[in-house]
Amino acid sequence: MLLYHRITDVDEADDPGGMVVPPELFREHMTALADWFDVVPARDVLGSHDRPTAAVTLDDGYLDNLEQAAPVLRELGIPATFFIVADAIAADPPEYWWDRLEHLLLEPGSGAERIRVAAGPRHLDLDLGTPLSSRAAYRELSAVLQRQGHDAAMQVLSTLEAARPRPPLCARHRRLSAEQVRALAEQDLFEVGSHTCTHSALAALSRRAGREELARSRQRLADLLGEAPDLLAYPYGSVGAVVRRNARDARSAGYRAAFANVAGPVEGASPFAVPRITVGRWSVAQLHAAVTAFRGPG
Ligand SMILES: [Zn+2]
Ligand SMILES: [Zn+2]
Repeated sequence: MLLYHRITDVDEADDPGGMVVPPELFREHMTALADWFDVVPARDVLGSHDRPTAAVTLDDGYLDNLEQAAPVLRELGIPATFFIVADAIAADPPEYWWDRLEHLLLEPGSGAERIRVAAGPRHLDLDLGTPLSSRAAYRELSAVLQRQGHDAAMQVLSTLEAARPRPPLCARHRRLSAEQVRALAEQDLFEVGSHTCTHSALAALSRRAGREELARSRQRLADLLGEAPDLLAYPYGSVGAVVRRNARDARSAGYRAAFANVAGPVEGASPFAVPRITVGRWSVAQLHAAVTAFRGPG
């Protein structure tokens, strides 16, 4: 089970989070994958198969999923599931916090070079004096915020926006509109799943808030698409960002399977903790090594 995020032409230097695979490379990956595996919809990868089987998922609902990834997938006849953040459809807030952080911490311009931020229970002193220290600050703050709820990230952003004003929007982090999500879902090869409402680490939320994220995002997508999504991808999806009670709540909310961001074989996995391999800017050989590591005997 493979996981991609953004499929777009962005240099590695402008991709500090390692979220981007360029479209040409994505095409090479997909071509190779179809050679090696039966590529099936994510929902069909569970259960047993006679032949090696793989599935493709894309998280976070960037506009490039529709503009760059979808044409490649269509051309090669490869099914895919797109996990959409319900509040992102309404552009609320207009960019994900990690993208906004890129502007606020890594782009040159005026403003404070030493900033203290409160990220949930922790305080961090950010040194934005040099490109190197700024990168370190970006990495440290990102790692902390990935374990927090949405509110903690919004609070950090407001501190940073005040200290280092930057232009409010950019083209490269654009996300799918409601209309564009529908355009994806209408294509036979594609399916839309929920990636919650606010992309908060579910483990960091109260039980009630976590359940709300699962139910409201499912309802929102049902209103948009005429059918409630069966599949869920946990935000961040790593150990610590999601815990057992979140899996139980996902089942209660009506989902039939939920996907994590931990590499591993799908065979034998719980349907509410399906492992996925997060793919980077890899050569086809690197992709091969990653997918065959989990390809069970036979
Ligand atoms: Zn941006
Ligand atoms: Zn995500």
